[in-house]
Amino acid sequence: MKKTLLIIFAFIFIIGTIFFTYKISFKEKKDTKLVEKNPVEGNEKVEVKINTPKSSESKKEVTKKVNENINKTKNGYSIVVKNGVTYIDDILIVNKSYSLPENYGSGLEKEVLNAFNLMKSDAQALNLNIYISSGFRAFQSQANIYNKYVLRDGKDAADTYSARPGYSEHQSGLSFDLNSINSSFTDTPEGKWVNDNCYLYGFIIRFPDGKQNETGYKYESWHLRYVGKELAKKIYNNGNWQSLEGYFGIESKYLD
Ligand SMILES: [Zn+2]
Repeated sequence: MKKTLLIIFAFIFIIGTIFFTYKISFKEKKDTKLVEKNPVEGNEKVEVKINTPKSSESKKEVTKKVNENINKTKNGYSIVVKNGVTYIDDILIVNKSYSLPENYGSGLEKEVLNAFNLMKSDAQALNLNIYISSGFRAFQSQANIYNKYVLRDGKDAADTYSARPGYSEHQSGLSFDLNSINSSFTDTPEGKWVNDNCYLYGFIIRFPDGKQNETGYKYESWHLRYVGKELAKKIYNNGNWQSLEGYFGIESKYLD
């Protein structure tokens, strides 16, 4: 009788051990997930082993950490995504590949306005009149503008000169259009002066002539983007404007 009981206990113990081991190995499998690195930089999929969150560390926080992992551009600059906003070498990037969250932005940044006011007063001293005709645009305003152009010219044409909502630099608070939003601005005294001098104030011609393949947009002599003096001087490139995309080694293409 005693022997039978002992055998039964031993049996239960063995079954229990097998079950427990199986459960642990299954759990480990579940915690190894496919994480999309950066949908834009070539759809690479990397296997990331996520340790089971300890105590207070939630799943969401672990995912966020993975998203904030630093990647590199083709030219070796760091790509960091924070709260849905992409920074390359600490420069906020918005183009057809990198969008902004719907609720991002509230107006032109103070630093941008200060730089503009300085540029404006220097232009004024030369009897040139430059003014911001379109500054910050919220997600919804951009949606209205874009949809209007799509109705008028079709989606393919609209995509060459107007950004889809969430993909406009105007939502960043770092960009604005000057004077008349028209190619006629290019050869005005104001347009020429801006082209040759805006970098001194930290601005770049964001969509330079002949760079449509890189920026995804036609030449816009009136659309300026603030990047700070140091980077602006490099992009200005002694008068032979580079694009931000070419400089950093990134793309500007919609996924569809
Ligand atoms: Zn613009």
